[in-house]
Amino acid sequence: MLIARLALSCLCAAPVVCAQNLPQNIARSESAQLPGLLATYKQIHAHPELSHFEANTSALLAEELRQAGYTVTDHVGVYPDGTHAYGVVGILKNGAGPTLLIRGDMDALPIVEETGVAYASHVMSKNKAGQEVGVMHACGHDVHTTVLIGTARTLAANRSAWYGTAMIVGQPSEETIDGAKAMLADHLYERFGKPDMVIGLHDTNAHAAGTVGITAGPAMASSTSVDVTIRGIGGHGAYPYAGRDPIVLAAEYILQIQTIVSREEDPRDPAVVTVGDIHGGTKRNIIPDEVKLELTTRAFSDKGRQVILDGLRQMAAGVATSASLPADKFPTVTVDEAESTPVTFNDPALTARVRTTLEGTLGAANVYTDPPAMGSEDVGVFGLEAHVPSVYFWLGAMYPDRFAAATAQGKLLPGPHTSHFEPDPEPTLATGVQALSAVAISLLQ
Ligand SMILES: [Zn+2]
Ligand SMILES: [Zn+2]
Repeated sequence: MLIARLALSCLCAAPVVCAQNLPQNIARSESAQLPGLLATYKQIHAHPELSHFEANTSALLAEELRQAGYTVTDHVGVYPDGTHAYGVVGILKNGAGPTLLIRGDMDALPIVEETGVAYASHVMSKNKAGQEVGVMHACGHDVHTTVLIGTARTLAANRSAWYGTAMIVGQPSEETIDGAKAMLADHLYERFGKPDMVIGLHDTNAHAAGTVGITAGPAMASSTSVDVTIRGIGGHGAYPYAGRDPIVLAAEYILQIQTIVSREEDPRDPAVVTVGDIHGGTKRNIIPDEVKLELTTRAFSDKGRQVILDGLRQMAAGVATSASLPADKFPTVTVDEAESTPVTFNDPALTARVRTTLEGTLGAANVYTDPPAMGSEDVGVFGLEAHVPSVYFWLGAMYPDRFAAATAQGKLLPGPHTSHFEPDPEPTLATGVQALSAVAISLLQ
C-alpha cells in the first residue's frame, strides 16, 4: 500500500521521467526501503534531541549505516570547551574514484510542537542553560537524517553503479552552527580522508513534496552572532538625571543600527541586522547598570559583514559618547566566532552537474531555480576546509494539495523554525532519497 502510494506520488510529481535515469534495480531498492524509512522518520520525529545532545539520533544513524555495510565511527567532533560531539562518519569504499561527502544534520529545536500529527513530539528537555524547553524537529533534520540513511543504503545496494568512496556524515549541532566545525576540529579529514566534493540537502516550505530547488553561486548568507552590552549608571527610577539610563541608550542604539543596512551597506549586497534578544533591569523603579543584546547578522560578502561589524561598533561608541559616559562605561561589542558561519556557496560547475541529474531524475518541471536565501548553514565549511566544490539544494516538503491551496492565496505554509512546520513524509522522503542517491551516483563516476 505504502509503496503504491509512494510510487503514485512520485509519478504525480514527475510523470514519465520519474527515476528514469537510475537503473531499474536502483529505483527498486529505493522503493523497497521506503516503508521502513517512514517508520524511522516518525521515530526520529517523535524523539527529537537538541543541538549538542544528539545521543540517540546519532546512535540510530550509526547502527543503520553499520547494517548497510559501512565502516562507522561515532562521537566524531570536539567543541571548543573540550566536550565531545555526536558526529557520525560512515565510509564505504568501492574501488578507485572520487570521494564524495554526503552530509545530513541531526539536531532539533527548542520549540513546542503544534502540528497535531500522530507522531508529534511531546519531548521536554533541558537546554544548555538548564531551562526546561519543548523540543521539536522544526527544521526537518529528521527528514535529512532519514534521507541520509536511505541514500547510504541505496549506494550500498548498487555498488556496480558507482566508483570511489562514499563518506556519509551525520552532523550534530547545525542549529548552533558549531557542529561542522567540531567535526573538523576532531580531524575529520585527517582520520577519514579528504573529499573531492560535498553535497547535501535541506527541506523547505517553499516547494511542494516531489520537487526540489537549487541555486548556483552564493546560496545562503553568512551568519555572524554578536553580543552587545550597553552600560550606564544605575539608580532610582525617580531620579534618572542622577545616572545614565542604559535602557534608553539601548533603545537609541537599536534604532540607530537599523541604518547600517539602509544607509551604510551597498543595497546590491543584501544584509540583515536583527536584535533577537534583549535583557536589562530587575524592577520598574530601578535603572539598571547595563542592558545585554544578542544579535544575528547576515551578509553575502566579507565586505558586507565588515560594514555591519564596523557599524555596530561605531554606533555603540557613538551612543556612549552622546551620553557622556566615562571610558570604563563604554559598550562592548563581541563577535561570537563559534556561533558564526560563512556564506554557503554552490560551486557553479558542480551545481550544473547536480542540476542535470536532478532534472533527469525528477523531471525538469520539478527542479526550480531558487534565489539566494538570507538563512544560514554550516554545511559550507566542509567544502571550504577541504578547498573542494560543494552543492546544497532544497527539498520540497509540503503536502502538494495544501501547498497549492496556500499558493493560490499568495501564501506559504508554516516554514522551518515554527511550531506548525509539517513535512509530507512519504513523498518528501521518497524524493529526497531518489534525488540524493541519483546525484551521488552521478558524481561517483
Ligand atoms: Zn535546518
Ligand atoms: Zn534550522
